[in-house]
Amino acid sequence: MQRTIFTDDHHAFRDVVRQFIAKEIVPNLPDWEAAGCIPRDFYTKTAALGINGLQVPEQYGGGGIDSFLFNTVVYEEIGYAAASLGGFQVHLNTVLPYFLEYANEEQRDRWFPGFADGALVSAIAMTEPGIGSDLAGVTTTAVRDGDDYVLNGNKTFITGGINADLVIVVARTSKDPENRRNGLSLLVVESGMPGFTRGRNLHKIGMKSSDTAELTFDNVRVPAANLLGEEGAAFKMLAHNLPQERLSIAITAQATATAAVDLAIAYAKERMVFGKPLAGFQNTKFVLAECATELQAGQALIDQALIALDAGTLTPADAAKVKLFCTEVQARVIDKCLQVHGGYGYMTEYPIARLYADARVTRIFGGTSEVMKSVISKSMGL
Ligand SMILES: Cc1cc2nc3c(=O)[nH]c(=O)nc-3n(C[C@H](O)[C@H](O)[C@H](O)COP(=O)(O)OP(=O)(O)OC[C@H]3O[C@@H](n4cnc5c(N)ncnc54)[C@H](O)[C@@H]3O)c2cc1C
Repeated sequence: MQRTIFTDDHHAFRDVVRQFIAKEIVPNLPDWEAAGCIPRDFYTKTAALGINGLQVPEQYGGGGIDSFLFNTVVYEEIGYAAASLGGFQVHLNTVLPYFLEYANEEQRDRWFPGFADGALVSAIAMTEPGIGSDLAGVTTTAVRDGDDYVLNGNKTFITGGINADLVIVVARTSKDPENRRNGLSLLVVESGMPGFTRGRNLHKIGMKSSDTAELTFDNVRVPAANLLGEEGAAFKMLAHNLPQERLSIAITAQATATAAVDLAIAYAKERMVFGKPLAGFQNTKFVLAECATELQAGQALIDQALIALDAGTLTPADAAKVKLFCTEVQARVIDKCLQVHGGYGYMTEYPIARLYADARVTRIFGGTSEVMKSVISKSMGL
């Protein structure tokens, strides 16, 4: 079905991005996967194309665009190329929005130019070894001492944690016995601050070009000037920003599953079984028809959600529905497309194998499918 959310400007931008991805990502992805991270100069290359600063205000060297549709084009094209650049996407889709929404004038002057020109890479650290889904249970503490907060705690699974210059850390600054959600704050920890150390780059079954780290904060003195937004109000800020993060995950899920169907169609047309192309069997046609139908439904949901996001009306429950549906569809579709590839689909030299491994985490990070169901059911008064 025709998508109606994009203009000619988006289409022209898409062409440029597609060419860039073909030249800069596709041939390099195996090396980046082996290295476990994306090289820093990738960020300056995308910045030169205007990608990093799309939403950064113009006075800081950005594009000053409010709409999320240009970002959508970028992440769709990365997915269509059967790639998932976790650290890059978290930097721009998840972390930058916190700065755009909550940074004060002084912080904007300090950090926005680096976002726009690719000099800065960022991450967000919510999860701890003992706390993931239950975010209000964060145990990392930040105690005010003069002009600083003294930060102590451990975070884990932090995407971009190895590469990042700036890490937004969720820490407890006070306790409210009435409501655990009160008293959490966002502090921006900078590379090189004494007491801030990074553990190893964690080994994952997929998303291998994305660095994922354990971070330790041992009496890190974080200047109060690095408090993002209001002290004690982090839970509200996270709840406000999570819908965009969840929609971004859905967009990548949808695009990578679309790539999987394209790969399966191409493979099925070439592979000969029992003397004829695999694509000639009714089972192959029906399986791929089911995939295309589920993807069509996912696309309609995403496009509707993108309109709502731009209008400022995307609710947490609606974003949760989109993430839940699209990531579950992604899992089903990619699994079926791998099956079409037979044994070759299990070999890592085939992109479908990478898509299969990369896809597993989309039902976990950004909130698990079970957490999405909790958010949705709460909105239903349950
Ligand atoms: C590759 C990767 C990258 C990540 N990147 C980041 C990052 O950049 N920053 C960051 O802060 N975090 C990141 N995470 C962490 C991620 O968000 C968490 O793993 C996720 O929120 C789940 O938390 P957990 O792993 O502690 O699982 P748990 O919360 O321990 O959950 C375990 C299981 O219990 C289920 N469960 C939990 N609560 C309920 C409930 N109330 N009802 C029913 N079932 C429930 C869950 O759905 C899950 O199936 C990343 C994780 C991965 C794997």
